[in-house]
Amino acid sequence: MRPLFAATATPEHPMPWGWLLLALTAAALGYAASCAWWPFAKCGKCEGRGKFTRKDSKVWRLCRRCRGSGSRLRFGRKLWNRFAKVRNASR
Ligand SMILES: [Zn+2]
Repeated sequence: MRPLFAATATPEHPMPWGWLLLALTAAALGYAASCAWWPFAKCGKCEGRGKFTRKDSKVWRLCRRCRGSGSRLRFGRKLWNRFAKVRNASR
């Protein structure tokens, strides 16, 4: 009796690595396109409001994390910006 991993990797039943890779690539491309098209997400601290108000909402202060914009750069876009900065610096 062979171990299970060897049995699943026989040529008659190959693991679908190609499809897995394709799906991962498609997901990555989709995320990259999404980050290019929608670079911002709402700030997690103030939930996109940009400020914190007192219960009676007469007084408020700006959110420190997003400095009142209510938005934050998405992770993928941050990566892209860093990459772009490095690329520009090497020019
Ligand atoms: Zn905020």
